[in-house]
Amino acid sequence: MAASGELPARGPLLGCHLSTSAGYAAMAADAVSIGATTFAFFTRNPRGGNARELDDADLAAFLATCAGHGIGPLVAHAPYTYNLCSAKPETVEFARRAMREDLGRMERLPGNLYNFHPGSHVKQGVDEGVRLICEGLDEVLEPGQRTTVLLETMAGKGTEVGRSFEELARIIEGTRHGELLGVCLDTCHVADAGYDIVSDLDGVLDEFDRVIGLERLRALHLNDSKNPLGSHKDRHERIGEGSLGLETFRAVVTSPRLAGLPMVLETPQAGLDGWAAEIALLRSLAAGE
Ligand code: FE
Ligand code: FE
Ligand code: ZN
Repeated sequence: MAASGELPARGPLLGCHLSTSAGYAAMAADAVSIGATTFAFFTRNPRGGNARELDDADLAAFLATCAGHGIGPLVAHAPYTYNLCSAKPETVEFARRAMREDLGRMERLPGNLYNFHPGSHVKQGVDEGVRLICEGLDEVLEPGQRTTVLLETMAGKGTEVGRSFEELARIIEGTRHGELLGVCLDTCHVADAGYDIVSDLDGVLDEFDRVIGLERLRALHLNDSKNPLGSHKDRHERIGEGSLGLETFRAVVTSPRLAGLPMVLETPQAGLDGWAAEIALLRSLAAGE
């Protein structure tokens, strides 16, 4: 039995993508209200416009709520509009500048994670895409920063870079500050990319370990998929309602190899109630119910 005063075992770190529109303190309160112990948020408007300056009092209240409820690490998400390997120099330049600014702001909530989509090479080819992403990361990553930057595993829609573990490994190996990089595994994306986590999660994690190294895996996005394995589509579905199915997520939340990693839902829900229910469902799977 746990000694009195000791916190109960936490179970998996679970949460969803939350909105910053009412401020950071309100976002942390939303997390508490749905039983989340981690969450994601956009570092600026998802369309990629200007970032609001962080308000000192709002940020202090946010940090206090997270600390008081044992929430974190958090997984901030870069807007989808950033493309470090666009064919347009001004788009590449915008992505680099915006990522630098985002990471500067992330230093005010140190020790968290920042994930981004590596980019789309738009017919320049994977080699040029990887080269541009590495060049961008060399400009963006600052030695000594306290945020780990995560490359997201992609579905391979269009010309997306990061559709295989090999492509992600090439990016990590091609940058000067690979020690600041990790990977966020999106369950919908890897299945859409052709990795069979439905019948062989452990085999996919073995391959991840062989190609990238499991110590690089720092977060997960939990999404079911509207499409079959290898479809390269990227359409998220609610947990248990898509081609991955409930048993896949039972395997994910009970895998000792994934224990302790933040797991963030990006499922189509109408509001906070839907995510609260999904978080509760995943906690019950983790508890063996
Ligand atoms: Fe994403
Ligand atoms: Fe994702
Ligand atoms: Zn997606």
